[in-house]
Amino acid sequence: MKRKFYHLIINGEKMKGSTDGTIKTYNPATGELVAEVAKASIEDAEKAVAAAREAFDNGKWKKYPVGRRAQVLNKIAAIMRSRFNELVELEILDTGKTIHAAQGQIMQAIEDFEFYAGAIVGHRGAVNNVPGQFHNYTEKGPVGVCAQIIPWNYPLMMAAWKVAPAIAVGCSVILKPASFTPLTAIILGEICLEAGVPAGVVNVVPGSGTEIGNHLVENPKVDKVAFTGSTPIGKDIMGKASQTLKRVTLELGGKSPSLVFGDADIDAAVDGSLFGIFYNSGQSCEARSRLYVHEAIYDDFMNKFVEKTKKLQLGDPFNKATHVGAIINQEQLDTIDGYVQSARTDGAEILTGGKVATPEGCENGFWYEPTVLANVTHDMKVVNEEIFGPVVVVMKFKDEKEAIRLANDSDFGLGSAVWSKDGARATRVANQIQAGIVMINCPFSAFPGTPFGGYKQSGFGRELCIETLDLYTEMKSILSYYGSRPLNPLGI
Ligand code: NAP
Repeated sequence: MKRKFYHLIINGEKMKGSTDGTIKTYNPATGELVAEVAKASIEDAEKAVAAAREAFDNGKWKKYPVGRRAQVLNKIAAIMRSRFNELVELEILDTGKTIHAAQGQIMQAIEDFEFYAGAIVGHRGAVNNVPGQFHNYTEKGPVGVCAQIIPWNYPLMMAAWKVAPAIAVGCSVILKPASFTPLTAIILGEICLEAGVPAGVVNVVPGSGTEIGNHLVENPKVDKVAFTGSTPIGKDIMGKASQTLKRVTLELGGKSPSLVFGDADIDAAVDGSLFGIFYNSGQSCEARSRLYVHEAIYDDFMNKFVEKTKKLQLGDPFNKATHVGAIINQEQLDTIDGYVQSARTDGAEILTGGKVATPEGCENGFWYEPTVLANVTHDMKVVNEEIFGPVVVVMKFKDEKEAIRLANDSDFGLGSAVWSKDGARATRVANQIQAGIVMINCPFSAFPGTPFGGYKQSGFGRELCIETLDLYTEMKSILSYYGSRPLNPLGI
């Protein structure tokens, strides 16, 4: 259950930070203090890197038979399952998200460990075709020490997406959770130890991104950085990681389009598009925040969409009737409102929402009304930039060609959705959309096993899938000669 204080996890030990600094976490739904967390200093980050390095270079984890590592991953999942309600409660308190969202995300985090426990067993090298009397095989080995830096919108799920594949292949990790939401990442670190992950393999260091995150990115003893967060910080990380040629994977921002064609099942498209933007209060990288509707069904679709948006219930995240949770903090709330006000100034029409909300019992929290903006154009900020809140922009299109052009007119390329009963059209459009994920007649983007990641400025690398294991792996080619005559290539 909830504690008053949470520790760093370094080299298998729970500890306070070397400076005794702390981070206070607040419940975004109510503004109440949730807990204090030890704040890592540079010295602590150094200790974590040294522990991860030692565990990787001289430890036993990467030498375990693969089945044994799989067994430990399954044990992590089993402990998480046994603590499911506690993890859900902590995630709600730390983020203000609804109980439905938290339950789904914690369950997925558990299933991620189970998925990689299975996937690792089939992850192997290959024997390659080479001329006779030679034998060549490729071996896949862990890349080494990985800094994993994650955001606040899906705290435990993002931690699972990163920690599970990394430790499955035998890497060591230093996990830096977002300062606003460190609680479940710390519990995950404790669970890893309890499940039998050796000391130093999983270290958790809550602390400032610009200080601790940056230090990990620049540290020459770190081999890889896996980052999920905003595009500007991702660019900064890529630049800095290049100094030591670290392996880098980046899961960044988005401005994902939904295309609703004239032959779509309108009710399904309305419900799916509502979920697509308002789930997690719009604080999702793949939130479908640009909605394009064919002109023939625009009025019908929009009447239903706006009517249902108005019915969305805000309030106590623990109440199962609540549809939309809180915004993470005051700064994010101001950012969202700033975008909406800029759209208003630019001439957008606010069909519903458009202001800060104060649900009963949550007057000191951070809330924004689900907002629908029409009469927008592609030169507006609100259409081009990631808002990361419950705000959707809506436009009409005339035909398939225009729909694809509008969808692709973005610097981002993470998610996208196509709503059409015509399978040939849906497939044709999916092929032309420049995005890492296309959802056809479906609002869901990610299950363990489905590759998740972006095109363009939404980053690169794919998480949540079998191929992710390769992103934590170095490949070695081993060539041997078994001919009976000695080789003398220089003819001396
Ligand atoms: P953020 O501000 O970029 O922060 C993400 C993480 O990076 C946090 O742990 C942060 O620490 C740390 N950080 C900040 N500055 C850093 C620096 N200079 N060097 C190293 N680390 C640094 O993002 P956010 O606001 O937490 O999350 C929202 C963003 O994440 C959105 O853009 C969203 O689209 C993206 N996201 C993408 C995906 C995906 O899979 N593509 C998934 C989820 C979220 P502090 O917390 O201490 O600042």
